[in-house]
Amino acid sequence: LVTRMRPFGETIFAEMSRLAAETGAVNLGQGFPDTDGPASLLEAAARHIREGVNQYPPGPGRPELRSAVAADRKRRYGIDLDPASEVYITVGATAGIASGVLGLVESGDEVVVFEPMYDSYAAVIALAGGVRRAVTLRPDPEAGGRFTFDPAELRAAVGPRTRMVVVNSPHNPTGTVFTRDELSAIAQVCRDNDLIALTDEVYEHLVYDGTEHHPLSTLPGMAERTLAVSSVGKTFSVTAWKTGWVMGPEPLVRAARTVNQFLTFTANGALQLAVADALRDEGEWVLGQRAALEGKRDRLCAGLRAAGLEVLRPQGTYFVITDIRPLGYSDGIELARSLPHAAGVAAVPAQVLYDNTDEGRHLVRFAFCKRDEVLDTAVERLVAAL
Ligand code: PMP
Ligand code: GLN
Repeated sequence: LVTRMRPFGETIFAEMSRLAAETGAVNLGQGFPDTDGPASLLEAAARHIREGVNQYPPGPGRPELRSAVAADRKRRYGIDLDPASEVYITVGATAGIASGVLGLVESGDEVVVFEPMYDSYAAVIALAGGVRRAVTLRPDPEAGGRFTFDPAELRAAVGPRTRMVVVNSPHNPTGTVFTRDELSAIAQVCRDNDLIALTDEVYEHLVYDGTEHHPLSTLPGMAERTLAVSSVGKTFSVTAWKTGWVMGPEPLVRAARTVNQFLTFTANGALQLAVADALRDEGEWVLGQRAALEGKRDRLCAGLRAAGLEVLRPQGTYFVITDIRPLGYSDGIELARSLPHAAGVAAVPAQVLYDNTDEGRHLVRFAFCKRDEVLDTAVERLVAAL
């Protein structure tokens, strides 16, 4: 294994899902729903396969999906994109993020990330030979434990070698949805230092309590320096479909595209056609999903509280972070490794998503994208065991 990748073992999500399978634990670790997306979407994919959409699609993706992505972006956020040159289809957001970082970060460049961070960021920045500068998100006790950052820390993280800021909102694992003020602070730093922003918006539709998601590219001076990434998996409960897209100005999309054509070349064509229709026709389904998930968030948060954990209430995504210290625990990795055996529930220790590991030692993430009876079983088990 190359030196750059040696710090990266098996991902925490794979480890915890394996542990859950081995012990028969309820898996609230890795984030994936236990119900399917819209029936019409599943049927459309099957139909396209039956009808012979089974050979390589064009490298940049099916034109139908690129147009649907551009139209969706326009309708929801007023963003103008040329589907031919400013939208590019990837194998999930994961490949979009990897291609963007590998295509835009030179060896030795610094990349600012907000920690805790989704695990693929650290790995692809390392692959590019980049250096991470982490800005820590911390719970604000005045705001129900909502995680936020200190703009002074963000400014201090930027130096002469900084090339990019990675912005994930709605944020996995904290569930924070950045406000306009927070985004303005990030945009200011990007403009002042001529940085590229890479935005990971895969949870863009999973926001609660009337919270709104604002793409960073809609802020002044940001459209020309933002490469936005999203995907179908979370929005339509089809995480296995691995169909995503990068969006932004042609030079940034071209950078990602140049790399991506040698990583995966192209992505599944039949699924792309099905997703194109869903982006246009399934707005109601998305609203229903959002309402259902908001209820599940409340259900799991109440249950985790009853089990004695401190709940840091999320505004978006399908994850909730808990502080384990009220129960007398201090090490989330230890607890998460023992929980499947001791309680029959799997979760994810947030510590592994930090560079400054002390910041996340006492935090454990639970996923609430599960059927209500599954959440209830998990809570009963936690209440009994903790
Ligand atoms: N970014 C974040 C923040 C995620 O949680 C996920 C889900 N695994 C991804 C990217 C990857 O998305 P995809 O499955 O579309 O590759
Ligand atoms: N996004 C999901 C999570 O954070 C799945 C991640 C994965 O399996 N790579 O749990």
